[in-house]
Order: sequence, then structure tokens, then C-alpha cells
Amino acid sequence: MLFNFYMPTRLISGEGCIKANMSFFPKGGRCFIVTGKKSAVFSGALDDVTFVFDKLGIKYKIFDRIVENPPVSVCHEGGVLCRAFGADFVMGIGGGSPIDAAKAIAAYAANPGIAPMDIYGDGLLPSLPIFAVPTTAGTGSEANQYSVLTIDETNQKRTFTSPHSYPKVAFFDCRYTASLSEDGTLSTALDAFSHCFESFMSPRSNAMMEQLAAAGGRIIWNVLSGGIFANLPAQTREKLLYASCLGGIVIGMTGTGFPHPLGYPLTLEKGVAHGFACAAFCGEYIAYNQKCEAGRARIESFCNALGASPKEVGDRITMLSRNKIRFDKQEINKYAESVMKAKNLANSPYIINYEEIKEIYSRLFG
Ligand code: NAP
Ligand code: ZN
Repeated sequence: MLFNFYMPTRLISGEGCIKANMSFFPKGGRCFIVTGKKSAVFSGALDDVTFVFDKLGIKYKIFDRIVENPPVSVCHEGGVLCRAFGADFVMGIGGGSPIDAAKAIAAYAANPGIAPMDIYGDGLLPSLPIFAVPTTAGTGSEANQYSVLTIDETNQKRTFTSPHSYPKVAFFDCRYTASLSEDGTLSTALDAFSHCFESFMSPRSNAMMEQLAAAGGRIIWNVLSGGIFANLPAQTREKLLYASCLGGIVIGMTGTGFPHPLGYPLTLEKGVAHGFACAAFCGEYIAYNQKCEAGRARIESFCNALGASPKEVGDRITMLSRNKIRFDKQEINKYAESVMKAKNLANSPYIINYEEIKEIYSRLFG
């Protein structure tokens, strides 16, 4: 059996896990903390982190300017400030946006003088050590090396990656996801489901990753089938956090499939949350992959692991994406062209072409 598996992040879970595992932080030194506007505070995660830092004598500076779909320019600015602060390590607290931004900031700080776009160099950029605390159960960014940033000039997403950008330690405390709205819970769960599904389908997957992807997908599918996304009990939120971590690990090795790049224009141009944007293409992803033998077999195995038919999976996930947006003809052409540049477009058994992308956009949003 062939496998190749690399995941250097220590994963620590449980309520109160940050305070209970202080020994994994440096004793002393300086930390640049990267957050969004509010969630790090009202989830309670920032309080736990600063409590521990005060105990350990770690000096810190909080950079709370990360918005959704973080722009390269803000991360570059953060990197310069992080360097000026003399940080020894970086802590990202929040959803995928602050954690992705923390990775970029840690890379800019470790490579002073590089221009914003130089982060996309050889894919080997050194980095300051990164610690991560997720407050959403969606991206799995805390368990992989990706940092999805928005290019300011083109308003397009591009992923920065380096083997040095895996967080050193990630802390999973499901109390921090309790403050998510119903939409926030659902959208991030759909994102994590998409990671598991798209990784399972990837030609780069292998037996070991398939098991993780199927396990994550099954957990999320069971929650999604329950149809309730508000005030979820801690036990359910803990399961979602675990499954999103599995999704993060597997895409770290296989990458995602075409629902991700197809969804980027929905997010950047129409304000659709990332998870809803990916889920909108689930039915199409199944239908196109069923056009080839390898795709049909992969879909069959994944859906068997969920205990559902491909039709049930496609219908439910697409329905949960709550798609209401519209594209005009010009937008369809423009967004299809931008999607053609995405590397992960080819990371599925069936590879869609330009005409098919337009067809999908027209059918769903035309
Ligand atoms: P997000 O963009 O980090 O946050 C979305 C919204 O949710 C923000 O308003 C945020 O508030 C809020 N929020 C976060 N945690 C909350 C909590 N516990 N309670 C209440 N509100 C909370 O959301 P995300 O879906 O986790 O991340 C999406 C980003 O990750 C996208 O840029 C996507 O491209 C990227 N991504 C990365 C990977 C990867 O592997 N690295 C994979 C998939 C997606 P604040 O602004 O106050 O924080
Ligand atoms: Zn995603």
C-alpha cells in the first residue's frame, strides 16, 4: 500500500486546552497576535491566550485588522509591524482569515524587505513559528500550510504555501465556536465537508488520507442531515471542530478540487461566505465527475462512507448552500476566465474546461 503523509503540527484538543498546555509555548519572548475585529475577543480565545502569556512572561502585541478574505497588502503591513515588534513567534486566533493571515505575516516578518507579491516565490519561504487557535470549524487552516490571500490589484484569491507555514501547535477548544451564528456554523461546516469530499476525490489522495477524509465527511454529513445549526450542543461543535481539522489535514496534502476556484468569484464579487460558495457546486461536482469511470468510482466510495446516495449528497449540500445570487453574461465570461488560471481546477478525476465552467455558472446563476 502506497502512502506519503506529512503533518508536522501538534494538535491539542479539549475544553480549556490552552491553559492546560502552557508548556508548549516558549517561556518568555515576544508574540505578535493576529485576529479579526471581534471574534477572538467574544469567543473567549484571546482572553485564554493572554492569560497564559502573562503567566509565562510572554510580551505580546495584538494586530486585529484582519478582515474576511485577507488582502496581501494588510498581511504585508502586519509583517512589517511584527518584525518591528521583534516577535519570536506569531499566534493566529479566529477563522480561516486570521489564521491564514498569521501565516503570511510570519513569513513576511522572517523575510524582511520582501515585496508583498514575493510571498508567492519558490514555495519554500522561511517563517517565524506559528501557533493557531480556530474559532470556526471550517477551514482547517490550523492544520495545514496554506494561506489563502486576496490580491489587492485583481481582487482574486491566490494561495501562498510553504512547508515552514504549518502551525507548530493548534489548540482546539469547542467553546470558541459557540458564538458563531447559525449561518456561520453552517457555512463553515459546508466548507469542511467540501475539503473532505474534494480531497477524497483528488488523484493525489491515497488510502491513509481517504480514511481521514471519509471520517471527516461522515461526521459533518450526520450533523448536516440533522438540519439544525443554531445553538448546537458542545458535543456536536466538538465533532465539527475535529472533522474540520481532518479536512484541513487532507487538503494540505491533496489540495482542493474545482468547487473551490469556482466559488471564489461568488465570495469576492458577491459577498457569499466561503463555505456556502463551495457548497453551491456540490451537485455539479458530482454530475461532472460521474462522466468518467474513475470519478464515478470515487463518488460511489465517498457516498457509501456517508451512507447516502450521490443524488442525496448533491441535492442536500447544494440546497444548504442557499444560493440566491445571479451573474449576467459578461460576469459569467469574466469569472470563467479567472477560474481557468486556478491550479486546483485539474485536481479531480474529471477536469472541466472553459465551456463547462460557463455552463455551470449559467445553469446555477444565469
Ligand atoms: P473568517 O473569514 O475567518 O470569518 C468569517 C466571519 O466569522 C468574520 O466576521 C469573523 O469575525 C466571524 N467569526 C469567526 N469566528 C467566530 C466566532 N467564534 N463567533 C462569531 N463570529 C466568528 O471565516 P472562515 O470561514 O473560517 O475562513 C474563510 C477564509 O479561510 C477564506 O479567506 C478562505 O479562502 C480561507 N480558507 C483557507 C483554507 C486553508 O486551508 N488555509 C481552507 C479554506 C478556506 P472576526 O472578523 O471578528 O474574526
Ligand atoms: Zn475551503
